[in-house]
Amino acid sequence: MTAVKFELGADGIAVVTLDMPGRSMNVLNDELMGPYAEVLSKIETDPAVKGVVLTSGKKEFLAGADLENVYKITDPQVAFDLAEAFKGLLRRMEKCTKPFVAALNGTALGGGLELALACNHRIALNNPKAKFGLPEVKLGLLPGGGGTQRLPRIVGIQESLQLMTQGTELRVEQALKKGILNDTADTLEELISKARAWCVANQVAQQPWDVKGFKFPGGDSKHPAIAQLWAIAPSMANAKAYGNYPALNHIASCVFEGGITDIDTGLKVESRYFAACVLSQESKNMMNTLWFQLNAIKKGQSRPSAPAKSQVKKLGILGAGMMGAGIAYVSAKVGIEVVLIDATQEAADKGKAYSTNLLDKAIAKKRSTPEKKDALLSLITASTDYSKLEGADLVIEAVFEDRGVKAEVTAKAEAVIPASAVFASNTSTLPITGLAQASKRPKQFIGLHFFSPVDKMPLVEIICGKDTDDETLAKGFDYVQQIGKTPIVVNDSRGFFTSRVFGTYLMEGAAMVGEGVHPRSIEMAGLEAGMPMPPLAIHDEVSLSLSILIENQTRKDMEAAGQTFPEHPGSKVMRAIAEKHGRIGKKAGKGYYDYTPTGKTLWPGINQEFPLAKEQPSSQEIQDRLMYIQANEAAKCLQEKVLRTVADGNIGSIFGLGFAPFTGGMLQFINAKGLPQFVKRCEELAAKYGERFKPASMLVELAAQGKQLEDVLN
Ligand code: NAD
Repeated sequence: MTAVKFELGADGIAVVTLDMPGRSMNVLNDELMGPYAEVLSKIETDPAVKGVVLTSGKKEFLAGADLENVYKITDPQVAFDLAEAFKGLLRRMEKCTKPFVAALNGTALGGGLELALACNHRIALNNPKAKFGLPEVKLGLLPGGGGTQRLPRIVGIQESLQLMTQGTELRVEQALKKGILNDTADTLEELISKARAWCVANQVAQQPWDVKGFKFPGGDSKHPAIAQLWAIAPSMANAKAYGNYPALNHIASCVFEGGITDIDTGLKVESRYFAACVLSQESKNMMNTLWFQLNAIKKGQSRPSAPAKSQVKKLGILGAGMMGAGIAYVSAKVGIEVVLIDATQEAADKGKAYSTNLLDKAIAKKRSTPEKKDALLSLITASTDYSKLEGADLVIEAVFEDRGVKAEVTAKAEAVIPASAVFASNTSTLPITGLAQASKRPKQFIGLHFFSPVDKMPLVEIICGKDTDDETLAKGFDYVQQIGKTPIVVNDSRGFFTSRVFGTYLMEGAAMVGEGVHPRSIEMAGLEAGMPMPPLAIHDEVSLSLSILIENQTRKDMEAAGQTFPEHPGSKVMRAIAEKHGRIGKKAGKGYYDYTPTGKTLWPGINQEFPLAKEQPSSQEIQDRLMYIQANEAAKCLQEKVLRTVADGNIGSIFGLGFAPFTGGMLQFINAKGLPQFVKRCEELAAKYGERFKPASMLVELAAQGKQLEDVLN
């Protein structure tokens, strides 16, 4: 079986089908490109071949480059040669003068779209799931198969820059509107016959950029309108990136330089920048975590393999507040029947109305229809009546963060639901093992920790209590995937993984305020380090009062267990701001910041309470404090087996907390620094700022043995 099928029709048109044996998707690698090169030679030399329809035998056209190969590259020459070899084939297609039509039956991303862009004409099947784009930037790479050269020559420099720096994935209609696609077809037969007909009607084909006098749509890099763009493009691209994503600059450079040269020179320039991206630490981090580790998680690495795959048909939700309402929406969206219970009918209805609101907004944006809205709402029953939970496969409680209330609703639900049903808590702080004491069947009790807002956040943290069995974990895992979210699995502990590390970020910010570090410097350093929100602003969002509540509870529990609560220097700061000045956060309109309808500004009173220190630390010093404290806490979670895998730690930190994605997550942050260097820096920080920076003992041991984090787990 070959990966590339060649069928020559009586009309002289060859249908070339990419269909790699033993794989569900076509990917760009030698296994595909070797046979493709042979077929291309035949096309070039056989006069009987008058034109080519290029299509795929899989559900999708071509998903992109085989990242296994790209990830391993450490020599820039190898990266350069890889890009050049692929582009050599594409150039041969363009220069052979026979028409090539891409018949795109499904998704064409990255190298898949680049292959299509080298065809003279692109027709796509009207497939609502198909996506088209050059998303390489999301893994710290750039389109090295001619994308940075052909796309600007098709859609213009400005549009292409936007698409490639954001890694936008377009649907058929959008790609057609932008001119990336030329035509569509409703059926596979029509797709091929339209492609064939185009070949027959255009027997001599040439790319516009190979025609003398070619002009970039909207102008080349020297055109006055575009020259203006070049003055601001780098700062626009870096406005949120703070220089942490070198691929952004490399993409812009490729497009700029390609816009003052011919296509062949542009293609070569692109290969050089491609090599720079491939070798960057940022791309290694992102490929490692956001590709390999994420795929491992999606394939069920953290799911016990024995229990059969399950599906939730009926879901009970207790508490129709912010979280319960969100969980109801995302569940009904995938067709699950939902019973949404609250203490009063009014509160339950309000929870259901949350879905109505979201759907009305989606309809206004043409992302949904009144029919879909009715169908989804008909799946949600808002009630106060627990007997409606009968037959539920899963119940999730999202009532107040109070052990007593949670125990009460657990008992009420368990009196009704089937013996096989799983009971889950969405608590953000209370240990699951303790909550399970209120359950008649602690083996079927689990934590499903959602993030707010539920409809936007991609992560669910699954927490196993002491007694949670594999069947229950598997059911929880399957449900999270059923609603299209990414599950990480952790063991029980105070704050689990995400809330625990998140707390260190907030408190380090507060501690620095107490030392007299300028609050603006703290905030800027947070952003420069790659965090989506700086520590003081995000603390205001979650509210200082909640942090105080959690701290009080933790202190009480630890003291009851005979342990000493470790005082944090940030605590006195947060208490002074919240308790002395009544500034509990954004919900009160005042916290570290003052909030007005037009925006927020840092509260000037901070520096009266905590005068500025004479000597201010460098931004790097502040960034290190904010990032090392989190990464070290993640390592402690791994050491204490709260985290079960490195992948869960990395993905959990990026998807749940937005931890600087270019670092590849908290544990990859440590790997990328190098274990010995990380340990040394932690020790320096500990000497200056306190015990909390002391490196996790596991790291010290591994560093001494010359090992990596993954080594302990394999
Ligand atoms: P919320 O106050 O918005 O909602 C709680 C709801 O529970 C209210 O509608 C209330 O009427 C209802 N309720 C209270 N007692 C009840 C009872 N006895 N029977 C039925 N309903 C009852 O709170 P929330 O923000 O949705 O949080 C709910 C849970 O989710 C908490 O455990 C919280 O820690 C957790 N959580 C919250 C977030 C967040 O960002 N808000 C994130 C993750 C987890």
